[in-house]
Amino acid sequence: MRRAAVGGLLGLVLAAPAPVHAVAAPAASPVRAELEVRIDPGTRELTGRGTWAVVAGRPWRVTLDDRFDVQRFLVDGEPGPAATAPVEGLRAWHLSAASRQRRIEITWRGRLEALDATLDHRAVLTHAEPVSGPRGTFLPSVARWHPVFEGAGLAYRIAIDLPEGQHAIVPGTPAGERTDGGRRVQSYALEQPESAIDLMAGPYRVTKRIFVAADGRKIALRALLHPEIAERGEGDLDAVERYLRLYEGWIGPYPYDAFSVVSSPTPTGFGMPTLTYLGVEVLRLPFIRDTSLGHEVLHNWWGNGVRPDYARGNWSEGLTTFMADYAYREQAGAEAAREMRLAWLRDFAALGSAADRPLASFSSRTHGAEQVVGYHKAAMVFLMLRDAIGTEAFDRALRAFWREHRGGTASWDDLRAAFETASKRELGPYFAQWLDRAGAPSLRLDSATVLRDGARWRVDVELTQSAPAYRLRVPLALGFDDGTEETRWVAFEGERARFTLVAERRPNAIALDPQARVFRRLAAGEAPPILRQAMLDPATVTVLAGTTTAGESLARRLTEHPLRLHPMTAAPPTLPVLLVGLAPEVDRYLARHNLPRRPPELDATAGTATAWAWTTERRGGAPLTVVAARDEAALAALARPLPHYGRQSWLVFGGSTAIARGVWPSRPQRIALAGG
Ligand SMILES: [Zn+2]
Repeated sequence: MRRAAVGGLLGLVLAAPAPVHAVAAPAASPVRAELEVRIDPGTRELTGRGTWAVVAGRPWRVTLDDRFDVQRFLVDGEPGPAATAPVEGLRAWHLSAASRQRRIEITWRGRLEALDATLDHRAVLTHAEPVSGPRGTFLPSVARWHPVFEGAGLAYRIAIDLPEGQHAIVPGTPAGERTDGGRRVQSYALEQPESAIDLMAGPYRVTKRIFVAADGRKIALRALLHPEIAERGEGDLDAVERYLRLYEGWIGPYPYDAFSVVSSPTPTGFGMPTLTYLGVEVLRLPFIRDTSLGHEVLHNWWGNGVRPDYARGNWSEGLTTFMADYAYREQAGAEAAREMRLAWLRDFAALGSAADRPLASFSSRTHGAEQVVGYHKAAMVFLMLRDAIGTEAFDRALRAFWREHRGGTASWDDLRAAFETASKRELGPYFAQWLDRAGAPSLRLDSATVLRDGARWRVDVELTQSAPAYRLRVPLALGFDDGTEETRWVAFEGERARFTLVAERRPNAIALDPQARVFRRLAAGEAPPILRQAMLDPATVTVLAGTTTAGESLARRLTEHPLRLHPMTAAPPTLPVLLVGLAPEVDRYLARHNLPRRPPELDATAGTATAWAWTTERRGGAPLTVVAARDEAALAALARPLPHYGRQSWLVFGGSTAIARGVWPSRPQRIALAGG
């Protein structure tokens, strides 16, 4: 199970099972299980029974959450071993290695936790309890809600018995359904490399259709949605079909026999093979169908169909972001794609060096700082590679990588090998610098002059970069009087280099990478400060001006790192500063320390405004982030909305509603070409 990437707010994670059908299935699973589970959301009772066939020649450790009682534990028909005392809520049974396959029968029962739909987003992500209620049941694999034979892949067939008004789903192929005596029993089957199962159920309305895959297989598409959003089912399945067609054409046939969109009563997002589990409120967000759903569908190729070798770095989020979120922006137009690249570079600049880490060390996302590297930097690594080797070779490499590794595990090295074969280039240094080094190059356009050279014009330009130098291809844009631009790529591999560009017409300016196609640390003016900087950079110090409770708790909600408080009576340090307080005290603090005042853009809505947030650059470069409010109540009203606006440079709030906002414009490094 992984967390779903939902518009940059949520993230994706944990390892996930591989395909059974259609594509190269893993070798026969060491554990094969037949399970029957009965759940009553009204009383939260779960009863289960199952038989497991396990291979010979190795010992087994079987675990189960100690909320469950075990009525029967038989090994080949004889009473099995006694359970250990619970450790961290888990009971365990140890089976020594046997010379032949064994058959284990277990029945268990217990009470699930009550569903708490008020859990906020971060709480849901860390909640690993099995929960149930009439509005929904979620039994995550990590909760060990069924006996788990640890450390081995599992082929399962499961029948889930619920009141007739409820529908259940687990990853896998639907394998039958019947209703009888007010109960509904649904079956699924899957062969997976993971040892435990994720189960979801709810009072769903079901929309179904069949999709015929590129190789002729029938794929069962379903939307299992809460009644209040059930009418969106057809539209969601239309979108799923579009994504399946897109990726079948781009990569290869869809590797499973089903895909479902499933709603959750809690505001979160998870992705698993053959399904995505998204909050009712999350599904209503406008970008879900247009972006996140496609991202989740694509994970059935990258992440589930081919699993990353997590110990050696997770490439699947970057590649999925590049071929989903970013690809949709490219389809929308060049400007939309540029905005996304620029936003990623701005986020990276906001991260500060303290939280930066090599891409190779990214395995899964637990907070925003990791998304910047694991998703966005990685997506840029794929973009720069495609710029270098061309779209045709790039796509050919992806298809070959898929053919070779589907149903298995692959590393960054396997990806590199596929790109090397397709492009006939040696890409070791390229991947090494982007995967193994933390940070990014800082590039500077140092000087440029233009000279007439016969009938043509010659531009001499000098670039510098931070040491040790990266080996880069850098686009330089020549601007002309008619407003057009011509882009020239130069190979920039030292700390300083001169290049000569030739033009048929007289250029009036030259700009360094104005389209933001190179992953780099933007210069101060190029990266206008955004609120996210104070949220992510652990170097940030917080000053509370004329407020205690509301201001401090707001500051805690805003930042992902422990608060470093700094007294308001002392001069501000040269570090990034987050200033939170009541407007008059904030103004006095800014004046006393000769800091930039509130920018005029924020005054336009003076009448209805109750709070303001903005970022500015101080002399010396360290950013200043200010949150000011009329009173404590207005400050408290920001606690929920403000953390969602990290990509803005400034906002004006009326109560908890953002009534105006904006990003300070970016200014590419540019030199006007005079003379000649
Ligand atoms: Zn993802």
